[in-house]
Amino acid sequence: MISIKNVNKSFGNHHVLTDINLEVPKSNVVALIGPSGAGKSTLIRTINALEEIDTGEIIVDGISIHDKKTDINKARTNIGFVFQSFNLYPFLSALENVTIAPMKVKGLSKAEAEKRGKELLTSLGLGDKFDAYPGRLSGGQQQRVAIARALAMDPQVMLFDEPTSALDPEMVKEVLDAIRQLANDGMTMVVVTHEMGFAKEICDQIVFMAEGKIVEVAPPEKFFTNPDSKRAQDFLSVVL
Ligand code: ATP
Ligand code: MG
Repeated sequence: MISIKNVNKSFGNHHVLTDINLEVPKSNVVALIGPSGAGKSTLIRTINALEEIDTGEIIVDGISIHDKKTDINKARTNIGFVFQSFNLYPFLSALENVTIAPMKVKGLSKAEAEKRGKELLTSLGLGDKFDAYPGRLSGGQQQRVAIARALAMDPQVMLFDEPTSALDPEMVKEVLDAIRQLANDGMTMVVVTHEMGFAKEICDQIVFMAEGKIVEVAPPEKFFTNPDSKRAQDFLSVVL
């Protein structure tokens, strides 16, 4: 579903991604973990071309994302992205935040978009918040609206960059539960996270990055108990 081949990227003379190769099959969940500055955000942002790449190719659901001939706005409708900060439209209600893109980009009628939007918000535990504005929602509720907004486009792939790290601890669980539900439903996902317990529980593969390189790829049982690389051993000894 996601195929990353020989990707390199520099910011000026700072080489931040080096020879990245990664395959994420349909319905797989991959956690990108590693120390600060490893290139995790840069890599996940290349998947929907929020960052350019210097070499290589990224294919999502058959579409070559960085090909000049690709209609990137169309390709992006297939790739949901949830950031650390929620970035909701402050002057739109929760439901309007969820329905605006399906109406404007996909041409759904208001009734169709609202029907789907209400289903999504309800499934994320926000059935009583349709009319609430973001400023009146908790961080965890805002992040769940952001997830609903991404899902409203019916993406084949969901990307999450530290979706819980801006949240108070008591709100982390509700957002992780929402992502866990998506994993159970078979969504293909790449998740940058510092929540090691969560990564261990829901992911098919752990991708450990350091200094712009993928150092190790392993199933969680292997990675968290017996990583091959010294770099991963050192990282785990600090974070676990
Ligand atoms: P963290 O865990 O702190 O979020 P990360 O693994 O997500 O770290 P990135 O944000 O991908 O790391 O950054 C990788 C490297 O690229 C860092 O050295 C960072 O300073 C650099 N970098 C990221 N974005 C830019 C940019 N827009 N311009 C220049 N350098 C950048
Ligand atoms: Mg980051």
